[in-house]
Amino acid sequence: MTPRRPADILTANRIVVKVGSSSVSGDNAGQIDPLVDALAAAHARGTEVVLVSSGAIATAIPFLDLEGRPTDLATQQAAAAVGQNVLMWRYQTSLDRHGILAGQVLLTAGDLENQTPRQNAQRAMERLLGLRILPIVNENDTVATHEIRFGDNDRLAALVAELIGADLLVLLSDVDALYTKPPHLPGAERIANVAFGDALAGVEIGSVGRAGVGTGGAETKVSAARIAAASGTAVLITATALVADALEGREQLGTWFEPAARRHTAGEARALS
Ligand code: GLU
Repeated sequence: MTPRRPADILTANRIVVKVGSSSVSGDNAGQIDPLVDALAAAHARGTEVVLVSSGAIATAIPFLDLEGRPTDLATQQAAAAVGQNVLMWRYQTSLDRHGILAGQVLLTAGDLENQTPRQNAQRAMERLLGLRILPIVNENDTVATHEIRFGDNDRLAALVAELIGADLLVLLSDVDALYTKPPHLPGAERIANVAFGDALAGVEIGSVGRAGVGTGGAETKVSAARIAAASGTAVLITATALVADALEGREQLGTWFEPAARRHTAGEARALS
């Protein structure tokens, strides 16, 4: 059932959780275990859980002896190919503690906009969920570079939520909520609730992530939240460190985007968002 407010999160049957590069790589690779614990707790309740995770490029940095995030596209793609492998290994090692199997799904936003690959992805996702496997989705960086260029796995997560008719999308980052202005500025206030269709007039939304290895920011989160909300999926934006509380429906946490009253088709949702 689609939760109408954060307190109803436990009623969600199907959840997509999206985590960014800076939350699961480098010094923060240790956040994988608590993240997986929170996903496993939801899975144990019978909830179907999909994880959309960035972090392939950032994970590869020490393995390729790079000083930092590579700047040229070919090296970024090569790093993503190496890091994706390590990232999945880390997730599976962590999921093993709960007896859960991961399934790697590499997609492009374009795949989800064209009928044949969309149907293929949908069929595979349905079967994975039916088998109680936890799909872990990332952009297919060897054939697509949208996230590398625009920092937009948030959008991919929204399209995945729409594809599988998720009840809830949780967008995680290192900032705990959306604020009326960048949170380090004085007077910034947490936005607790965004009604469907609210244009957020007067809110200053930053476009750059803070931690350096990720590329998304509040802007991509808000536009992803709008896509998902328009397709009837409730959205919660919060911090990776708060994911366990978030999935248990603690109120007073993050920013909640109310979903549209009814599910729209993919085309209608894009026009509305
Ligand atoms: N999908 C890529 C990754 O997971 C790109 C992320 C980025 O640009 O930082 O690493």
